[in-house]
Amino acid sequence: MRAPIPNNERQRLAALHSLHILHTPREDRFDRITRIAAHTFNVPIALISLIESDYQWFKSCLGLPINETSRDVSFCAHAILDDKLFIIPDARCDPRFANNPLVTGDPWIRFYAGYPLHALSGHTLGTLCIIDREPRLLMQEEREMLSDLGAWVENEINAVEISHAFIAQRESEAHLRAIMESTSDAMVLVTPEHQFLTVNQKFCEFFGTPLTRLEGQYIQHIKPMLKRVFVDSDQIIRLTIDILADTQQHFTTLVQQKWPTTRELEFFSAPVFDTQNKHIGRLFVFRDVTREREVERMKSEFVSQVSHELRSPLTAIKGYIDLFADGSTGPLTELQQHLFSIMQNNTDHLMTLINDLLDVARIEAGHIELQRTYIEVEPIIKNVMELLYPKFRAKQQTLNYRHTSSLPPVLGDANRLQQVFTNLLANATQYTPEQGTVTITTEADKQYIHIDIQDTGIGLSREEQAHIFDKFYRAKNGQTEFTVGAGLGLTISRSIIEAHGGRIEVTSALGQGSTFRISLPTIAELRRTITGTLAPATQEVS
Ligand code: ADP
Repeated sequence: MRAPIPNNERQRLAALHSLHILHTPREDRFDRITRIAAHTFNVPIALISLIESDYQWFKSCLGLPINETSRDVSFCAHAILDDKLFIIPDARCDPRFANNPLVTGDPWIRFYAGYPLHALSGHTLGTLCIIDREPRLLMQEEREMLSDLGAWVENEINAVEISHAFIAQRESEAHLRAIMESTSDAMVLVTPEHQFLTVNQKFCEFFGTPLTRLEGQYIQHIKPMLKRVFVDSDQIIRLTIDILADTQQHFTTLVQQKWPTTRELEFFSAPVFDTQNKHIGRLFVFRDVTREREVERMKSEFVSQVSHELRSPLTAIKGYIDLFADGSTGPLTELQQHLFSIMQNNTDHLMTLINDLLDVARIEAGHIELQRTYIEVEPIIKNVMELLYPKFRAKQQTLNYRHTSSLPPVLGDANRLQQVFTNLLANATQYTPEQGTVTITTEADKQYIHIDIQDTGIGLSREEQAHIFDKFYRAKNGQTEFTVGAGLGLTISRSIIEAHGGRIEVTSALGQGSTFRISLPTIAELRRTITGTLAPATQEVS
């Protein structure tokens, strides 16, 4: 009778396969056990049998000229169904085996006793069994002896399993180390308990400290080294310690190194999990960006200098063109008027571009100068609406202004805020088709005044919304192809609003218009955030 298949057969086979023991050469550590078993019990056959899906394979086999049999005829396939010794005193008298070809023919099995072998996971892999050609019984002492020998086989199998796991761990550690050593970045893996688990060679080189003084150490013991190496070591230590237990956040920031050499480093961190998804700590990576930053600075300085040089002659040219255009130098023919208006348009665009480039250079140098006074925002908005109204009229667009209540004054730079509103309103008309509508709504709560500029224009996709505040970014749509612009207006606007302690946000959908919301802190809110005292009326905000 064929043995039933155990309930956990799939997991049982997985445990067997993970040992990589099937069809391996004979090994003395197993053969010596079957030799002792055969001798002790005075039987002609002793086996260590492992049960595969449809056959049994003998890791050790004494007294049989074969290595495997079909699972259909296997006694051991029955033995693995229970955790106890499986004993058949006379197979001829047992209906499960009476007609078994191994009973009715060679090797003429009569007596069988099998000990089920378990893997570390608890799954039954096969048996240690003894077989006789004569019927017999097994005394209690003998049963215990067979169980002891079985436990010995299990220990040997476990040793195989443990050595596999050990080799796999060594290999994965070697891979991890190889990856960490192949990069030009300094890396350290820190546990949530503040211990430096793995440090790469680049880390030692960057910070002039040998590996033996770092690996296994706790952050508090390395503090003197960190103080020696970084300009703002306290901030780095605080940042590192605060985030160690965090399992989600990634961060990137810039840090300055002062020893053994001065460098600008990009400091990055991410949580690390093992294969069982257990949080084992965080990886901290330092990348040398000194050269990149230097090139960036040189680029910005170059753009700033060129823009400065261009601005003076352009201002003069624009002045003369305006003089000619308004007829101050004598009456103009229709053609001359037309040509002068084209020149005016182009010089205006050039002037805007140069001013924008200078603003971006200032932002990148880290400061926008704000001339702050107590100001009302509504008159500034109305002034911008008036200035830009010709553009709206030219496109037969409706321009609305709605306000729920009057806005409290803010502490701000009127010119800079005018620049922002001009940019947003110019964009609104530019990216809205003819006969569209642009609505400005203002409202205030205790902390902020809000200005919404809503259009019924072409809108922005999610992807575009994520980039419109980036330098030189222009969405790729039919509209931007035919309009002039350098993609700097929103970058500058955001910096100005943030320098005011406010924020600028966009909500939009393609084809369904956009709303840009500016929120500026009220004076009460500024008082609260700037440590209780008001900033002086004129200041430089970094
Ligand atoms: P510019 O208008 O000079 O291209 P901005 O920085 O002001 O530069 O705007 C960046 C991009 O954002 C624009 O090129 C345009 O693609 C998109 N954009 C700005 N405002 C709107 C708007 N109201 N509707 C649709 N797209 C807009």
